[in-house]
Amino acid sequence: MTKYIFIAGGVISGVGKGVAAASIGKILQSRGFEVTALKIDPYVNVDAGTMNPTEHGEVFVLDEGTETDQDMGNYERFLDRDLPAINYMTTGSVYLSVIQRERNLEYEGKCVQVVPHIPLEVVGRIEKAGKKAKADFVVIEIGGTVGEYENILFIEAARMLKQKKPKDVLFVLVSYLPIPSKVGEMKTKPTQHAVRSVNTSGVQPDIILARARLPLDKPRKAKIALHCNVQEEDVISAPDVDSIYDIPVNFERDRLSEIIFKKLKIKPRKKDLKDWGRLSQTARTVQDEVLIGIVGKYFGTGDFTLSDSYLSVIEAIKHAAYFHKKKPVIDWINSEEFERNPKTLSSLGKYDGIIVPGGFGSRGIEGKIKAIQYCRENIIPYLGLCYGMQLMVIEFARNVAKMKDAHTTEIDGRTKYPVIDIMPEQKRNLEQGNYGATMRLGAYPAVIKEKTIALGAYKQKDISERHRHRYEVNPEFIEQLESLGLVFSGQSPDRKLMEIAELPRKIHPFMLGSQFHPELKSRPLKPHPLFREFMKAAIEKRKR
Ligand code: GLN
Repeated sequence: MTKYIFIAGGVISGVGKGVAAASIGKILQSRGFEVTALKIDPYVNVDAGTMNPTEHGEVFVLDEGTETDQDMGNYERFLDRDLPAINYMTTGSVYLSVIQRERNLEYEGKCVQVVPHIPLEVVGRIEKAGKKAKADFVVIEIGGTVGEYENILFIEAARMLKQKKPKDVLFVLVSYLPIPSKVGEMKTKPTQHAVRSVNTSGVQPDIILARARLPLDKPRKAKIALHCNVQEEDVISAPDVDSIYDIPVNFERDRLSEIIFKKLKIKPRKKDLKDWGRLSQTARTVQDEVLIGIVGKYFGTGDFTLSDSYLSVIEAIKHAAYFHKKKPVIDWINSEEFERNPKTLSSLGKYDGIIVPGGFGSRGIEGKIKAIQYCRENIIPYLGLCYGMQLMVIEFARNVAKMKDAHTTEIDGRTKYPVIDIMPEQKRNLEQGNYGATMRLGAYPAVIKEKTIALGAYKQKDISERHRHRYEVNPEFIEQLESLGLVFSGQSPDRKLMEIAELPRKIHPFMLGSQFHPELKSRPLKPHPLFREFMKAAIEKRKR
């Protein structure tokens, strides 16, 4: 019998609902149950591909090519599962399906209404996702906070599913308890209001996760229980932690899985959270540092937004560093600074490794290319992700192959050396203004060449990786670039698309870029091979 656990947020957003959902999934999985997780994004955008990452966070891409919210990445990483497209929905995608169905006369002449048809579509998708995963537990995170207009139909879907399967549905409210600085006391009132607010939608939380700067004390617990209509044991303290890997371990300390089993009348199974416990221990205790710089174009938005826009890159760095028992220290480096003042390039010398992540557009591009040149010439381990690979090819073309002003046609359509060029079908998309979900998206296979750094990392020739791009290495220049030493060590099976570029080890210990996004497939206990080897090279550089 599949059980459904809805997770919604109270009071404010950004309190780690996604990680809480992923952690609940993790502890249930660690008890030997099959778990899948869904994210409901209240935006009208049909997918996250058209949302600005500095506002909405990273665009996470699934194997099937769906562009989703970063929380899908949290679920994949915590559960160590590749999740299917059905596990992500937005208001826009739900309406789109209902409207398409209406146009196909599938409602057989009935009036199609916001309620019940929209929530019913949501319920249908949730059940389908559960079936597809053969899940014992389906964790569903409802984006936004309760009480706002945007997610009300999803709360309604939770209510409907509970009404349909009263014994199989739980509702968890992740709520925030502020500690106003002048008062110095943790306040429960906003949480009480949040519970009232879902009550008006016919939903009563079964469990309340109390997110706060500090752990919940006894009086506060009692107060929430009394006013929010739950038992004290169902109020779980979820204070801020240094490392997200601690959260499942902390939840289990509060016996959260037992509480869930009791409520859903499930016989508990033996727990195995050992590997995860070791990881959280490593994350908490490693001292030995490795210094990684991420070179990009940055807005004056502070670290918070930055780390959200590059969440998977940061996580992949952590996985690799913890694997080698090192503490990753990440610096954000603004490439525009190198354009304004090229002398500052030498500051890159102190880094153990440099990453240029994915990106679009022209801002900061010349600075990134200069940084890549610096890494090549000064033997600093370099990992290029998508745009970072394309720019690595451009740098090589300009400075080694002497193709003056070589470029990507994304930036310079008239360059004499368009070493990176748009794919023909993509050209049509852009001409027709077809932007949404039209990039080369999702998992594609590639074949790795013998005797390369890539093969040393993957230890297998056939790989599959996730993509999100419109431009490619231009086949016209491959021979010439290769003759000068650039190695295209990963290619599409038909050899038409260049998937990995690298320099031979005898020239540079690790100078490699991938057209795909390896960060999307890195997992806490299984670091991505390319990040793992990049990190190894970085650690070696540090020793030198
Ligand atoms: N802008 C580049 C392209 O579209 C790279 C995209 C990316 O880095 N994800 O091909």
